[in-house]
Amino acid sequence: MKLGQLLFNILIAVTLGCALPSNPADSTSAKNVILLIGDGMGPQQIALAVAYSKHISKSELNLYRLMRDGEVGAVMAEAGTNLVIDSACSATQMASGRSCRPEMLGLDVDGNKVQTIVERAKLAGKSTGLVSDTRLTHATPAAFASHVIHRQFENEIAQQLIESGTDVMLSGGLRHFIPSNILDSAAATSAGIALSPASFPKVKSARRDEEDLLAAAMVKGYETVFDIAGLKASKANKLLGLFALSGMPDAIEMRSIQGNPARSMPTLAEMTTKALEVLARNPKGFFLMVEGGQIDWAGHENDAGRMLHEMLRFDEAVGAALTWAKNRSDTLIVATADHETGSFGFSYSAKDIPEAEQLSQGFFKSVRYEPRYNFGRRENLRKLFDQKRSFTSIVGEFESLNSPDQSPERLAAMVGEATPFILSVDQAREVLAKEPNRFYIHGHSELGNREAPIIRDFTAFYPYIENNRINLIARALADQQDVVWGTGTHTSVPVLVIAHGPSKLTDRFDGFLDMTELGRLLFESMGFDAAG
Ligand code: MG
Ligand code: ZN
Repeated sequence: MKLGQLLFNILIAVTLGCALPSNPADSTSAKNVILLIGDGMGPQQIALAVAYSKHISKSELNLYRLMRDGEVGAVMAEAGTNLVIDSACSATQMASGRSCRPEMLGLDVDGNKVQTIVERAKLAGKSTGLVSDTRLTHATPAAFASHVIHRQFENEIAQQLIESGTDVMLSGGLRHFIPSNILDSAAATSAGIALSPASFPKVKSARRDEEDLLAAAMVKGYETVFDIAGLKASKANKLLGLFALSGMPDAIEMRSIQGNPARSMPTLAEMTTKALEVLARNPKGFFLMVEGGQIDWAGHENDAGRMLHEMLRFDEAVGAALTWAKNRSDTLIVATADHETGSFGFSYSAKDIPEAEQLSQGFFKSVRYEPRYNFGRRENLRKLFDQKRSFTSIVGEFESLNSPDQSPERLAAMVGEATPFILSVDQAREVLAKEPNRFYIHGHSELGNREAPIIRDFTAFYPYIENNRINLIARALADQQDVVWGTGTHTSVPVLVIAHGPSKLTDRFDGFLDMTELGRLLFESMGFDAAG
């Protein structure tokens, strides 16, 4: 601003008896920051959704629009102490700009509490919000407003989240907020908690104490809601919405109930829209984190069809943020991931090699195009989308059958009903076979060398041994899908960061960033000093 203009502005301000009007276009910091985290969303997961939207649905992906109109950078997905990272450490590094260790929340590498961007925004008088389609106490949302030595301490996290005063918190995870004596729906009803049976088929506290965190939340001024009707009707400025006992439903199940006007479960996009409506009432602005948390769960399960649906669910939430921020010059949207999950990719193979063909328009009209390999068929994108159930839901139902009914034929039939890909009875038999899994010793010392369905390659990278059947089904179908998976955990593939908004806010988000650097940029983009 030139001196003459400055004097003129001061004169105007004095004349009007008010402070200088703040012109967002002149501002170097964002009034509002919306951080969208796709958990487990490596570049290849984004590419899966882009390919589906380009070749099958023919509708533009919101993430694609974000990338087209914004800045794209890459982020090193590593912990402060290790080569690979988990969601707890990643979200802590993003939320604080500080290095940390895997599995810890809100602590630096030495175990000291770090200040998170939610806490900093609150100090500045801004509103804050956390939204996730997993559960509120799960690592990603928890890292923004709690500090514990291990992510597994979800009851402690629940307590800290309420104490944090984060204005809007919408997700699953009710079991960590209700006292230990609430063990069924009747007990919940008599405690005054009205829960829809569709969203809460089972009610059971996971706490070991009598702490009633819903009551504590109400004392702190929160309205509590448990279904979409409550969410939509709320006029409160402090809102705690818990829509499932543990994690919210997977994206395929959500899509199947989405058209039902009587459904009680809100979608991730609906939670995002409501959070924005509430937070936007604060004239000082807000910080909102929205997580698409089950992209990661699909990756852990190696379930490609589910992963596509999880990506599309996350993309709808991105769309909700874009719609809200449309034509605003005071809002920064950042979409990124904490790490990649599954080492997923389409790959070319020696299976189902296409027929030779005569290319009518080719230069060598007499030469036949005779591929030696199968480079992946686009129609598989539609088939992946056509999956009607997640493999975790199939295995859950299968394992609840009486044991004589748990046959390979039955499993093959259930998979056949759920997806266009075929699990043969022989493959189903291999999925159900068990033998001692030596990795129980390391990960689960109390279980010893227990029998489990076995994954024979990279066995150590499938530590969620109870879930191995899910992975085995997915991997048995993978060569029909032209898909490969490398692990049941996370990889060190760098993730993308996409910044959308006024260019003066977005132009520092390109290049190859360290994850703590991304955290510091988030602080700075709100006008806060970056944490050291
Ligand atoms: Mg997460
Ligand atoms: Zn994960």
